[in-house]
Amino acid sequence: MKIVDIRATTVTMPLEAPLRHSNGAHWGRFVRTVVEVEADNGLIGLGEMGGGGQSAEAAVTGLKPYLVGHDPARTEALRWMLANPTASLYNNRTQLLAAIEFACLDLQGKEHGVPVHELLGGKVRSTVPFASYLFFRHPADDGTGEIRTAEQLVEHARELVDEHGFSVHKLKGGVFPPDYERECFRALAEAFPGHRVRFDPNGALGVEEAIRFARGIEDLDNDYLEDPTWGLNGMRRVRENTAIPLATNTVVVNFEQLAANVRDPAVDVILLDTTFWGGIRPCIKAAGVCETFQLGVAVHSSGELGIQLATMLHLGAVVPNLSFAADAHYHHLRDDIIAGGKLPYGGGAIAVPDGPGLGVELDRDKLAEYAELFRELGPYPYDRDPARPDWYPLLPNTDWADPAPSAGPPARRVMGP
Ligand SMILES: [Mg+2]
Repeated sequence: MKIVDIRATTVTMPLEAPLRHSNGAHWGRFVRTVVEVEADNGLIGLGEMGGGGQSAEAAVTGLKPYLVGHDPARTEALRWMLANPTASLYNNRTQLLAAIEFACLDLQGKEHGVPVHELLGGKVRSTVPFASYLFFRHPADDGTGEIRTAEQLVEHARELVDEHGFSVHKLKGGVFPPDYERECFRALAEAFPGHRVRFDPNGALGVEEAIRFARGIEDLDNDYLEDPTWGLNGMRRVRENTAIPLATNTVVVNFEQLAANVRDPAVDVILLDTTFWGGIRPCIKAAGVCETFQLGVAVHSSGELGIQLATMLHLGAVVPNLSFAADAHYHHLRDDIIAGGKLPYGGGAIAVPDGPGLGVELDRDKLAEYAELFRELGPYPYDRDPARPDWYPLLPNTDWADPAPSAGPPARRVMGP
């Protein structure tokens, strides 16, 4: 089998409402680029990447000279062809490598008629549990979906529990003043006795503020506290001052950082992201290191449509030491570009696909529909808040959003020069 062509299609997928985070917001939509790698036997492997609300079409198709003629079964060679660590100092392609790796694994599975998890050691579980992944949200254009208060947060969580069966709740913070967010988080935890919780302000708190925050939630049933502050040393100082395990998807995102964290622990739980780490296979390797050194592991979500979700499911299926429920933004999507529509949750979990390859196929009509929506709406600045167009955060942040109700819908001005 040889690669003969690579195609990339950027799509815009509407969300229920804009999702707020410490750097800005997802502006009511995800921008994702669907990657198709075609082989000389006519099979097509699927990949996906996101990032920053921008299209990645040109970056993906720019890899054609590297990949045409390559056997997709030689997956390990891809790392050295595209993301050699010293060459990457000039041209960092880790996330592109991930999208190509997904497609090459999909091709191998389709060629042999086996699911990707069988290529990766075989599944040790058939469903992957997920957390509810709650955000503070701006209202959607029709005025619905705002989450700003503890009451709105708990009501939304209750709807998700009823609909999808979640028993683990993650709150994305780093938006409002920490004392306000702590009270919202406490209200969430107290609304669901017996459920577990996790809080993630994306590293926005200073070390001392993070310690104060941690001490204010230590009595709750926390899975972990995720990236309360920025940097390995900052995390280490927080860890020394709280009983809650710390997790990260920001300061341990490669093997160098994993080694540093093993030698001088700053984080207890490593959140593996199939895009950030450069593919499913490096995540499995990292999970092996974590198993050896007794670190916790969970599956991180950097935003996903059904193809990326499938990579997370195959990863979750084969990693024995998956200590915690996975994260996914998936339930915030209004639709998907895979055939059959969105993969369903049941009992707070999603079944691991067992079809050949990744086990998902494109719905070409949906792909065209949402590619047209991208052409219509264009990119969005992930690191800006539409309600505060002139604001950008410092680390640690001290300029929080005001939790009081706003006078109207958020301003939509895209930054000017
Ligand atoms: Mg995180």
